[in-house]
Amino acid sequence: MDVRNVKKVIKGYQTVDGAGVQLVRVLGHADVKDIDPFLMLDAFDSQDPNEYVLGFPMHPHRGIETLTYLIDGKIDHRDTLGNSGRIQGGEAQWMTSGSGILHEEMPAISDRLFGLQLWINLPREHKMTEPAYHDINTEDMPRVEKNGVTVRVVAGNYGDSTGAKGNFVQPLILDISLIPGAKFSIPIPDSHTLFTYVLEGDGFFGNDDSMIPRRTAVIFGNGGTFQVKAGTQDLRFMLFSGIPLDEPVAWAGPIVMNTRQELEKAFSELDEGIFIKKR
Ligand code: FE
Repeated sequence: MDVRNVKKVIKGYQTVDGAGVQLVRVLGHADVKDIDPFLMLDAFDSQDPNEYVLGFPMHPHRGIETLTYLIDGKIDHRDTLGNSGRIQGGEAQWMTSGSGILHEEMPAISDRLFGLQLWINLPREHKMTEPAYHDINTEDMPRVEKNGVTVRVVAGNYGDSTGAKGNFVQPLILDISLIPGAKFSIPIPDSHTLFTYVLEGDGFFGNDDSMIPRRTAVIFGNGGTFQVKAGTQDLRFMLFSGIPLDEPVAWAGPIVMNTRQELEKAFSELDEGIFIKKR
């Protein structure tokens, strides 16, 4: 069997973003070539509201989609499309910024805030698409249980189960739990980007003998089947895969375009108050 091998093991770094939210920037600018069509992965896990209540007040986005996946806790959301609401543990939201959105993401006080935000790039021809926002309920992410393995299908298809679907990049995103010693494998098309992030426990990924601990990302090289074996504890990890866009990336803060000129245009439109396109 042609098994995907471990290309890079990445811990990310602790940082503060928004108005003062402690998070781990697992993957970002430096990893874009390895994680295309994805741009960034942030992980947050806190039992101290002081580390997150200041949240992410109104800020712009253009040229990307964000998928926020909440395992525990609550996040209130409001945007210039007129959406507002709360996502809770077990739910997600998929935001297509397209031509431009301003939004606010404010974690509410809870016992634990535990989740991820993934930035998904938009293909060049859809950078300026109409903005959109979708809540993804727990029922929209089916659970498949077999042989000590539980797969929650966050996005894409797994067997006969289908999770949330993107209109542009159509990633496969799985939240996978294994009991100690259990094994899991899934074929991934050779050219598709593949990386994982361990949420809890530890395990052995690909052909590698070294144990990957929690809060660690693994980027895989090309190949066929992805495989993993849980260590001596329950293992829970996220799997992300997608077709690379292979387009130039011009990225400044919350705006990701293809050229510097497009970035400059976005920031001057923000200054002039014409960033949000009326439809
Ligand atoms: Fe945002």
